[in-house]
Amino acid sequence: MIVFLEKVREKTLFSALDPIITEPLELIYIQTVLSQEGIESYIIDPLFKMNKPGGIIPDLIILSGYNVAENLIIKRANDYKGKYPLAKIMVSGVHAQINRQAFRVSGIDFVYFSQGFETFKIFLGGETVTKGMDIYNKDTKTWTTGEDDLLKNSEDIVPCRGFFNLIKEKTRYIDKKSVALVKGAHGCPYKCNFCYCRLLNKGKYIKPDYGKLMSQVYNIDSEYIWLIDDCFLTTREDALSFIKASKKYSDPGTGAKTPIKCGGAKSLIAYLRADFLVENEDLISELKACGLDEVIVGFESPNPDTLNDYNKGQSSSIYKRLAEILKRKNIELTALFIVDPQYNTGDFLRLFRYIEALNISVYTLSIMTPLKGTLDYENKKQLLTTTDPAKFDFLHLVIPSKLPKWYFYTLFYIGHLRLLKSKRIRKMIRGLL
Ligand code: SF4
Repeated sequence: MIVFLEKVREKTLFSALDPIITEPLELIYIQTVLSQEGIESYIIDPLFKMNKPGGIIPDLIILSGYNVAENLIIKRANDYKGKYPLAKIMVSGVHAQINRQAFRVSGIDFVYFSQGFETFKIFLGGETVTKGMDIYNKDTKTWTTGEDDLLKNSEDIVPCRGFFNLIKEKTRYIDKKSVALVKGAHGCPYKCNFCYCRLLNKGKYIKPDYGKLMSQVYNIDSEYIWLIDDCFLTTREDALSFIKASKKYSDPGTGAKTPIKCGGAKSLIAYLRADFLVENEDLISELKACGLDEVIVGFESPNPDTLNDYNKGQSSSIYKRLAEILKRKNIELTALFIVDPQYNTGDFLRLFRYIEALNISVYTLSIMTPLKGTLDYENKKQLLTTTDPAKFDFLHLVIPSKLPKWYFYTLFYIGHLRLLKSKRIRKMIRGLL
């Protein structure tokens, strides 16, 4: 069997800048499983100019992409069906996991929504699959609906880094180059009501095994490691386990309190919550010593009532302290903010002043966007001004704004100007010129 694995990427307004370029990790996991089963496969990713190999006819094509690529995935499936009529087409990935219905269309044979790889291995073995996958029967022209297939424990799959090693020079997180992704957890235990991540695995959160995770980190030949768990450390116990696991990989010559080593010190980037960081301030120096150099934190809003509405479970009153702690500990911050379509001029100005007052130099502004598959989407369905998936990229209004649209966008883009003051952003832009 020969398998093509394609990452389908839709362009966004920021594609020209591409502040974040990372490997298609989910496809690398699939490729690892395929090679364990002795199956030949090729990753196709336009971002890295990895095109489909010439002269090779696939038996199976697996397409994966984010929510914005929904239509493009369906188009690619049909293009492939035209070119390779005997090949089967499967769609997988986090968008398909929650929105399998969207892909039960002409041109697609399987929608893989299992949260793990056991079902995939059964499928590869040619056995009947009854869960984790919807299957199209071309004789009856009907779809068989698979049962839920949740993950109970994390799987022991260490992704092969061969693809990453080929493209690592092109990867980046803002100004940091050669950035590998590592994932240990599944889902998120918090319940922020706008968030898609908490729906994965039907809300059942599976913690990482920090020992195995750090073993992966240690073995990747790259300086920067982005730990992409939706919330990397959720409790103090997690932090202590992570510190213990990191120490195992510390440089024995210089003692435990050094960054882990493997062809050089590792610098870690992780998603963490503000409440966790502030409540565990006494551990931050140790986390820094374990290599934690940058945190990505969902601030969402300076307004406590808005955070309450979002069910964020934390108050914005801790953000100032967080920004101070991180500065003192020399840990870089990317703060994530959400701009609501109901914002008026005052709300925008308050947000801009807030970012300035906290002296936050790297941040993102996302327009509140109800994501297909969430309750928020169902509740706001009647308000949607578009159903084009490409517009659900957090940079477009998909529900009406209170302010005139042109004025809302003007303020939204003005809100990005402060980023030009950031040395890191300027370094990134210089690297593009
Ligand atoms: S903590 Fe972050 S990842 Fe978890 S539900 Fe909230 S926004 Fe989503």
